Amino acid sequence: MSASPSERELAEVVADLEWAMAYWPDLLDARLPMATPRPWRQLRLSPEAHAERDFEARVDWALRSTRALAEAPAPTDVTIWQTALDILVDADDLAAKVAETVGLPVLPPPGPGELNAWPYLAYAAAHLPAELAEWAAPIARRMQEKIAQALCMVYDGHTLDLTCPWCSEASVWRVQTLPGGMIAIVCGGVCEPPAREVGTWWHGQPCWPMSDWERLAKHVRVVEERERMAS
Ligand SMILES: [Zn+2]
Repeated sequence: MSASPSERELAEVVADLEWAMAYWPDLLDARLPMATPRPWRQLRLSPEAHAERDFEARVDWALRSTRALAEAPAPTDVTIWQTALDILVDADDLAAKVAETVGLPVLPPPGPGELNAWPYLAYAAAHLPAELAEWAAPIARRMQEKIAQALCMVYDGHTLDLTCPWCSEASVWRVQTLPGGMIAIVCGGVCEPPAREVGTWWHGQPCWPMSDWERLAKHVRVVEERERMAS
């Protein structure tokens, strides 16, 4: 039994919303775009090392601050703050439209200084009716793209502190913006994953766009688990 076009479209919108939900906390934290238990978060970073990462700290400050946008300390911080705000507004609108269409109670709007799109994204993803899928598709896709762009501003060039499951080299994965604005993890090792595990290559190196990162995380977890058992 195959899904009808509208069912497929609905599933795609829900997937985009779930993606936005998964990366929303990372946008707010402006840390590595994989929260626990995703393995490539820099868990081993000491508090001192963390304090040195003043760039992150400033972004963090900008996001937590309820002060006016104009007072944020740097253009990038403003952009990330603005991205989070845009997504919150879109998510609130989306959830309200869904509620109205399916006849469910509307979520209360975010209070002043409250920067949490997650409940609205979750509500929309849970209740989105097929009839709204076409309308919601570009909104959900735009949210995903905005979060990816904002995270990349923070993570571009960032080396991930883990071992590649395929070439077994450590600290060879880097977050990079590729031409066309695609954000990907590129392995810099002598690396040839099986074709089914890598969709894209960049200058002869395997790379994985953000949409593949959950899958990538599973591979890393398997390898880390195996290493832990072996040691
Ligand atoms: Zn590799």
